[in-house]
Amino acid sequence: MSGDLYRLVYVSRNRLDGSPQDMRRKIEDILAVSERNNRENGITGALIFNSGIFAQVLEGPARAVEIAFERIQRDLRHGDVDVLEFEPADRRGFPSWSMGFIGESREDMALFGDLHAVTGFEERRLGGERIFDIMRRIASEEEGRAA
Ligand code: FAD
Repeated sequence: MSGDLYRLVYVSRNRLDGSPQDMRRKIEDILAVSERNNRENGITGALIFNSGIFAQVLEGPARAVEIAFERIQRDLRHGDVDVLEFEPADRRGFPSWSMGFIGESREDMALFGDLHAVTGFEERRLGGERIFDIMRRIASEEEGRAA
């Protein structure tokens, strides 16, 4: 265990609306603020999204994660926020991302589609660990493609 490292995983209902271009712009706004704040606060993680849900992993010092999450859960751009995991972690799953956005490419959507097929989009029935594993898998495939 590396000291005070915690991981929080939640899912929520996406309340963003508009055209795909509007959605993309709104997500970019969220990511820009997230990256700046998270970098300042020693938080890393990843966000995945589709028209129905968000899933996010936040990792960092427990208090920093709690403070960020208190802000995030008040945000009206999503709702029904459900924490699946808030536990000490051995290491960061997304060490180089202050907030990575995954699930954009066609390959990612295929993987996310698997998730849909397997779960019927009942993410709340998946554990935080399973969502974390799926997001790690998508992230490492993305990094593999970028290399
Ligand atoms: P402000 O930007 O002044 O926000 C004031 C209030 O308005 C807050 O309640 C804010 O949530 C809300 N708000 C801001 N912009 C909009 C908008 N365009 N539409 C509707 N409401 C708005 N922040 C992080 O720091 N780190 C993260 O990892 C992170 N992840 C997020 C993931 C999701 C799915 C969402 C929806 C938001 C996320 N945010 C994250 C953004 C976070 O909710 C706050 O908006 C942000 O941290 C700034 O909050 P603030 O109160 O300091 O500032």
